[in-house]
Amino acid sequence: MRIGVIGAGVVGALIARELCRYGIEVHLFEREEDVSFGVSKANSGVIHGCFHEKPGTTRARFCVEGNAEYTALARELDFPFKRIGAHVIAFNSDDVAALERLKAQGEEIGCAGLEIIDREEILSREPRVNPDVRAALWSPTVGIVEPWDVAIAAVENACANGLVLHLGTEVTGIRVTGGRVTGIATDAGGFSLDAVVNAAGLYADRVARMAGVDRPVLHPRRGEYILLDKQAAGTANSVLFPAPTNNSKGILVLPTVDGNILLGPTADDLPALSPDAAATSSVGLAAVVSGAKRLVPGLDPRLTIKTFAGVRPEPAGGEFVVGPTVVRGFYQAAGMRSPGLTAAPAVARYLSREIAAEFGLEEKSAFDPQRKSPPRFSELDEAARAALIEEDSSYGRIVCRCNEVTEGEIVAAIRRGARTVDGVKFRTRAGFGRCQGGFCTARILTILSRELGVPPEEVTVRGKDDRIVVGRVRP
Ligand SMILES: Cc1cc2nc3c(=O)[nH]c(=O)nc-3n(C[C@H](O)[C@H](O)[C@H](O)COP(=O)(O)OP(=O)(O)OC[C@H]3O[C@@H](n4cnc5c(N)ncnc54)[C@H](O)[C@@H]3O)c2cc1C
Repeated sequence: MRIGVIGAGVVGALIARELCRYGIEVHLFEREEDVSFGVSKANSGVIHGCFHEKPGTTRARFCVEGNAEYTALARELDFPFKRIGAHVIAFNSDDVAALERLKAQGEEIGCAGLEIIDREEILSREPRVNPDVRAALWSPTVGIVEPWDVAIAAVENACANGLVLHLGTEVTGIRVTGGRVTGIATDAGGFSLDAVVNAAGLYADRVARMAGVDRPVLHPRRGEYILLDKQAAGTANSVLFPAPTNNSKGILVLPTVDGNILLGPTADDLPALSPDAAATSSVGLAAVVSGAKRLVPGLDPRLTIKTFAGVRPEPAGGEFVVGPTVVRGFYQAAGMRSPGLTAAPAVARYLSREIAAEFGLEEKSAFDPQRKSPPRFSELDEAARAALIEEDSSYGRIVCRCNEVTEGEIVAAIRRGARTVDGVKFRTRAGFGRCQGGFCTARILTILSRELGVPPEEVTVRGKDDRIVVGRVRP
């Protein structure tokens, strides 16, 4: 049997990995030049406690299961994951009533350890929180990841277990014959397939229509963010939420796994997907600052090192669209708005088991769930650094000064699949620091050019025509 997964975001990556447990041929198609360049690239990276989700919904079910799976998943795939917990901050009696509702809702769906704490307790745990705080809801199961780490690790592990990865390959059509999937068309030619999984993120509605399926109906909802320098460490020790609004969990203040502070997101419904859907705006960023300052009044926006936006694929009705369709062999993991990152492992497990049951698939004994991440120079002690440099002198050359990333790590990332400056950045953190690549981009470009055997003019930021240099000044 041959099965194709469309979309190498966190959802498609984990589905492809789960499918590799069975003795079948699995193909993953991604139109971008790398894994996790879609919605999975720009979000809060919170593994939610799920108390925001309504009982009885697909979101609640997959969120609770997915959250529980992250500890084992992070161990197997060796990506950084920290269960730092979250506090929902209440400032008035309406907010306190909202905390009570969230706690009751969370307990009904199975979130463990929820507790309402008083003003003194929250201020002792989070001394920078607004002193006007009245109470907070504590959720110990909330965690943080860098979302692209999860997708990259899952794809690497799936490839080690036989996955065929087709990057830079856009699916343009789905062949359905006699009510069942028989293949797909792509811009790199056709493929015969027995089943297809639609995990196309913001484009999942278009992909569904290619198979003649009319759900999901999606609309884009933008979220803007501000990333603060590591100097802001300590602004928050846990994920800080305000009491939620009707269409979002509100603007958060949280540490990232690398020790920066992230503020955001906003929630703006857009009329349609457009090339500038993920642009930031002065209005949006001002809303981020004022929302974040309400939680932590003393935070310093002058420590901003980056602003960015992500776009949520909001499904009509708000529910994830996960499972089989009227077309035999056409499955969906679509409408994956927040908490899709949290839910992804559970969605992947559920869907792969559904497919296995329908096609009578057996798990293969040879599947190896373990993947080892390459060494991070900045995290090693002196002895380990010296040993690494002894083995390979390129680990002795620092390329990204802000995050102390070495040439050896950049070469390792390229050998593991990075083809672009962003591919290197997401795998190594080079260019993610205070100077945002001002110092190291040219050097990364040179290393990419050398390792890939292409002229510098062909190296791109993130694929296609996104080139950095246009030509030589002198021949
Ligand atoms: C602002 C914001 C904040 C969020 N915060 C959180 C959070 O804190 N916690 C949480 O759990 N969730 C959060 N989410 C939700 C989470 O980011 C998403 O649910 C998740 O990333 C969706 O992953 P995906 O794989 O479905 O989509 P994507 O990552 O978009 O992957 C789909 C892929 O399909 C590819 N593709 C599309 N069409 C085609 C085609 N025709 N052919 C080939 N490839 C195609 C795309 O290029 C893309 O790479 C947030 C989302 C946003 C936008």
